[in-house]
Amino acid sequence: MSDIPVYRNYINGEFSAEPTSTIEVFNPANGRLLSKVPNSSAEEVEQAIHAARKAQSSWAQKPAIERAGFLKKIADKVRQNAERLATVIVKEQGKTKELANVEVNFTADYIDYMAEWARRIEGEVVTSDRPGENIFVFRKPLGVVAGILPWNFPFFLIARKMAPALITGNTIVVKPSEETPNNCFEFAKLVAETDLPPGVFNVVCGTGHEVGNALSTSPKIDMISFTGSVETGSRIMSAAAPNVTKLNLELGGKAPAIVLADADLDLAAQAIKDSRVINSGQVCNCAERVYVQASVAEEFIAKLSQAMSATRYGDPMAQSDIDMGPLVNKVGLDKVAKMVEFAKKQGAEVVTGGQVADLGQGFHYQPTVLTGCNSDMEIMQKEIFGAVLPVQIVADLDEAIGYANASEYGLTSSVYTQNLSLAMNAVRGLDYGETYINRENFEAMQGFHAGARKSGVGGADGRHGLYEYMRTQVAYIQS
Ligand code: NAD
Repeated sequence: MSDIPVYRNYINGEFSAEPTSTIEVFNPANGRLLSKVPNSSAEEVEQAIHAARKAQSSWAQKPAIERAGFLKKIADKVRQNAERLATVIVKEQGKTKELANVEVNFTADYIDYMAEWARRIEGEVVTSDRPGENIFVFRKPLGVVAGILPWNFPFFLIARKMAPALITGNTIVVKPSEETPNNCFEFAKLVAETDLPPGVFNVVCGTGHEVGNALSTSPKIDMISFTGSVETGSRIMSAAAPNVTKLNLELGGKAPAIVLADADLDLAAQAIKDSRVINSGQVCNCAERVYVQASVAEEFIAKLSQAMSATRYGDPMAQSDIDMGPLVNKVGLDKVAKMVEFAKKQGAEVVTGGQVADLGQGFHYQPTVLTGCNSDMEIMQKEIFGAVLPVQIVADLDEAIGYANASEYGLTSSVYTQNLSLAMNAVRGLDYGETYINRENFEAMQGFHAGARKSGVGGADGRHGLYEYMRTQVAYIQS
């Protein structure tokens, strides 16, 4: 057991002493122990916040282009270590190696993209009502950001919070998910190899209850940038309320996919299947429920079922020719199994899948298509987070939009049609942060990833995502 790595927190540019209390991290594909990570206390969180605060003002005073230089060095390190980092992610999270490679390279590109904003952070000069007055709107950093991460794209989400925070002059304390912390410590090791000033980037690992809560309740945190479940997001909101801390919450989804009668059914079946199978269905923005127009329902369901049943799955470290790995843990597997069983009791019919997959080890669930679903069912309302597609038949686009919008989530949506008017009507009618027409759901770094209703507050990526990490100051200068 001596070769099991014990990771340490990264605070003020140094790795802390070996932790006295640890959390064990396991491979979800085979149950093997991978590492031990700090089960940190509120005091350690306080040390990290103190380091980030101390570093912030000199970091903010550096020209943005200099800050960009540090980010680019980190992006280069990520690229140089891509193969190793992808393997770390596969082992602790269970995604395919192919997807882990995409995640690592996308992360490096994302850091570079945010660095490129250095010369484009802009204020405004506004017309005054008074003679001889100038009104300037300045953009300033917030201060210290807390980045609280989930486990599903653990590596990319470090960058999605760290890169906009740092380029705009903030410093950050990152708390990785206790399910998938190893990649974050490997990232910290790469940061430590650069000359990034101490305290600008810090990592403290532990439970949500202790470390997450200490960050959320701290009066010394200027923004909490959180990605995770609605339940935790809501808890963080309450914890942050006494300090009126700014929140950026990227929460869950229940993405509707609408297939209309004139759609390219092969494309729709393939794209919806791809959207559901990626990362074993554990993606906030990917197709979670399908509405298909009655006249093509039979043909489409047959195509979708064929695509889903052809999905190959297994242990991503042992097999390279698979489309998905296991679910992240037993809790996730039990949740999917329970939801499908309940859907069956409520009248859903299994077209393909519908069972826990017995591969001898790992938390696998068969790729599943359910028909006979209606919008009152739990499976059409609650986030599944597994490769299960419940299908409901609808009369037309308006009915589909009505069901799609009658959800507590509002993150992403997709529509398959070859008719431009129908596509535009769908975009107008769908009350969602993102709508994809004739393609699988996956956002671009230059877009803006933000959800309506309980899917979140604020958003990430692009210009709008960048400015989430800044506040304004207006100067009225009479001359
Ligand atoms: P989670 O809410 O269980 O945990 C996320 C993080 O919050 C973890 O680091 C956890 O330790 C921490 N946490 C738990 N309790 C806390 C508390 N009381 N105070 C502060 N922090 C606390 O989510 P998860 O299971 O890791 O991730 C899956 C969820 O994330 C899904 O609902 C998914 O839709 C969502 N997600 C959303 C997006 C998006 O961009 N909208 C992206 C990825 C994942």
